Amino acid sequence: MSMQTERTPRSPRFRPVLDQFAPYKPGKPATMVAGRSYKLSSNESPYGPLPSVIKVIAEAAGDVNRYPDNGAAELTEAIAARYDVPAAHVAVGCGSVGVVQQLLEAVADPGAEVLYAWRSFEAYPYLADLAGARSVQVPLRDEEHDLEAMAAAITERTRLIFVCNPNNPTGTVVRAGELARFLDQVPDDCLVVLDEAYVEYGRDREVPDGVAVYRDRRNVAVVRTFSKAYGLAGLRVGFLIGPEPVAAAARKTMLTFSVNALAQAAAVASLAAEDELLDRVQMVIGERDRVRSALLDMGWVVPPTEANFVWLRLGELSGDFAVACDTAGISVRPFAEEGARISIGEPVANDAFLEVAGDFLSRHPDLASRKVG
Ligand SMILES: *Cc1c(COP(=O)(O)O)cnc(C)c1O
Repeated sequence: MSMQTERTPRSPRFRPVLDQFAPYKPGKPATMVAGRSYKLSSNESPYGPLPSVIKVIAEAAGDVNRYPDNGAAELTEAIAARYDVPAAHVAVGCGSVGVVQQLLEAVADPGAEVLYAWRSFEAYPYLADLAGARSVQVPLRDEEHDLEAMAAAITERTRLIFVCNPNNPTGTVVRAGELARFLDQVPDDCLVVLDEAYVEYGRDREVPDGVAVYRDRRNVAVVRTFSKAYGLAGLRVGFLIGPEPVAAAARKTMLTFSVNALAQAAAVASLAAEDELLDRVQMVIGERDRVRSALLDMGWVVPPTEANFVWLRLGELSGDFAVACDTAGISVRPFAEEGARISIGEPVANDAFLEVAGDFLSRHPDLASRKVG
């Protein structure tokens, strides 16, 4: 008998960290019910791209035999002009998730800690694990960042801190005063990333503009995206505004050519059409406020939200609630045993959701009195 046949067959060996996490779960498409379905699971814009943007994408499609501009010069200049910052302070990525990964790759030496609130954006633990960093998660307090506890959790190994503002999935915000007090306690050699994916939906005047915060601090960078308010989720483009060394590091760790030419062209065109896009944002905000008021009127506990979604802390009923929504042709984002995040869609989708929410509450009246947190 040869050695070959005696050996137990083995699979290729992978990094043990891969066993610790499930791969990123995309928002579930809605089930068709009576010929309609509404996807309220991924915080996308309910509006299709503007005709002017589609035209630019179609034109760029004629050149896809060529590699994109790896430096994304035109887009970088457009972002720099829009925010009145030097182009050297801008970096782009394949979505802001790409930028987040670039930053983690840039800081994650062995032993590096990455600090963030939890629950927050699902990409943080996954990408931190992948980069080889250790995640330090600080529980939310009353659905909000607990910045005092986060400051207390900083060690000499903390290399990067995420502050997701507004927070996904709760929609809650960090205000200017508390953020400044927090930043004063962060060592200069630790990077703070303000993830402002939903900043365009904010109307609370006490919420700081991350770009203004970055101007005053050498260790603060802002990450934003074209995926939400600008409606380009399918094209994958996000960006960072930060001090020159931070932007330079994020450029070094970007996978070459990861922002494709269609995405670059569409992002430039979207900045040019910003007024029109921000009118749409205003409509979503109107719907958000209508949905939250209606939920509160029914008796739901709903944290104030400055984003394009609402958060319901359903605890052990989270899965049942998602099933109830799905049965009505609506997909939402449940987090098992915690809650459900529901994106704001077009009025007819929101109405359909409110109907399910009303029914569900009448079947589970105890939810109405449930305390937040
Ligand atoms: C949606 C979202 C992003 C954006 O991701 P993209 O990669 O730009 O599509 C970033 N951060 C948070 C907190 C988000 O919710």
